[in-house]
Amino acid sequence: MIARSDSWDIRIHRAKELARKIPATQEILRFYVKLLESQKQIDEFLRSRANWLPSGKLGDDLPVLRACFPALLHMVETNGPLALAEEAALLLEARNEIIEEMLLSYWQSPSDAQFFAKAFLQPYARWLADSGGRPIDKSFDNKENRCPFCGGMPQVSFLQITDNTSESGNRHLICATCLTDWKFRRVVCAYCGEERPFKLGYFHTPEYDHVRVEACDTCKRYIKGVDLTRLGLANPLVDEVAAAALDVWAKEHNYIKIEMNLVGL
Ligand SMILES: [Zn+2]
Ligand SMILES: [Zn+2]
Repeated sequence: MIARSDSWDIRIHRAKELARKIPATQEILRFYVKLLESQKQIDEFLRSRANWLPSGKLGDDLPVLRACFPALLHMVETNGPLALAEEAALLLEARNEIIEEMLLSYWQSPSDAQFFAKAFLQPYARWLADSGGRPIDKSFDNKENRCPFCGGMPQVSFLQITDNTSESGNRHLICATCLTDWKFRRVVCAYCGEERPFKLGYFHTPEYDHVRVEACDTCKRYIKGVDLTRLGLANPLVDEVAAAALDVWAKEHNYIKIEMNLVGL
């Protein structure tokens, strides 16, 4: 796992910086900044509980986690795109059990269509990992392209030099559910495992030289990859969101994203 270079503050800082630099994605990034700030609050709330660590059994941890629901929902109601804002308003009226059911079902089988559950549980799952716990109430297959900690799908791929033997960098995937990362082979589809180079395509625009679409012509899926060897200042999760133009391109070419990000791209 990479060092604490992936803290919430670093993500927030990078998202603000890119919002200033890239007018085309300003609106998306401004919402993403607010979202990251809400997730940071959840993270801080959980980390600051006296004599409490997440058990890894989500049902048992919900009584603590539920205190975090209103703040994130209010934020989305105020700042989110219309459909999410309306859903947030409904959830603010709903009983806690409704939200808790939603989280428990997401926990067992995560889906990128479940915005609220994904947003709530990322800081929880990450703190579970950082605090030495593990998800004890869910079973998942150990597959190379799934998160070894929680079984989640990869959100983004990144290249980073982690040892002296590889000048072009080692490839890692970041989990969409718990935000930890794991090492992954370089020339392999992160969805179906295709490894024949002529089936794998890489596309980027001059605008985002360090971000590329990593597409597979066998399963027609793609993931975006962030090359930290080209731009060390980049943050994989945030630069992935900012390079929204590449998602438009991939969609136009009939590629399906392995996992949509929190801004729905
Ligand atoms: Zn995970
Ligand atoms: Zn594939």
